[in-house]
Amino acid sequence: MKTIGLLGGMSWESSVLYEELINTEVREKLGGTHSADLVIRSYNFAEIEALQTAGEWEAAGTRLADDAAKLVAAGAEVIGLCSNTMHCVAPAIEAAVEVPFVHICDAIAAEVHSQGLTSIGLLGTQFTMEEGFYRERLEASGLSVLVPSSEEQQMIHTVIYEELVQGVLNRSSHEDFLDAIDRLGSSGAEGVIAGCTEIELLVSEDDVFVPYFASTEIHARELVRIALS
Ligand code: GLU
Repeated sequence: MKTIGLLGGMSWESSVLYEELINTEVREKLGGTHSADLVIRSYNFAEIEALQTAGEWEAAGTRLADDAAKLVAAGAEVIGLCSNTMHCVAPAIEAAVEVPFVHICDAIAAEVHSQGLTSIGLLGTQFTMEEGFYRERLEASGLSVLVPSSEEQQMIHTVIYEELVQGVLNRSSHEDFLDAIDRLGSSGAEGVIAGCTEIELLVSEDDVFVPYFASTEIHARELVRIALS
């Protein structure tokens, strides 16, 4: 089994879920006392958020790329970045390491295609929903991507930063997310991507009546698949 290096803490609420999902998947696959072989860099998310807010993506990319190289030096043989948003700096990370970097969009796109869907709704931070790095990668795989209205995007973004990454799960936000998912469905989305690693803490597959693609779960499973291949 390969050692998995995780760039996490963005936020730790979802990194904990990554660790649990990865270890559970390894146990399911290998049985007995097997668990995942992990090295983790967990950031103080306030520092990363400050870079995001200031638009200092290059500095953020340099920081994550340097740390990915340190994970490799510490034994990582495959790298996972535990945030959809921060995949906007994926090229810097990929350039800094020679081991496989498991891109979250590719794992999700493969899962969506495996269910035969072509039109997909996307929830995430405003960076993820609005900027090209995420949508265009999904579109390049042949998917057509729908995003919520700008008011709904604002609501989703605010809930992520003011509630989910701070460990707050509100019933009213849960309902608001379900409404946004319903509207994507009415606009033609055949399924919805929870494209922020904390969203599945608020809304689970069981709450939703369309195929639901939980990014943390899909990414964790793909990391294990690569680690065991
Ligand atoms: N975990 C998040 C994501 O998947 C949001 C926090 C961040 O901006 O990194 O996009």
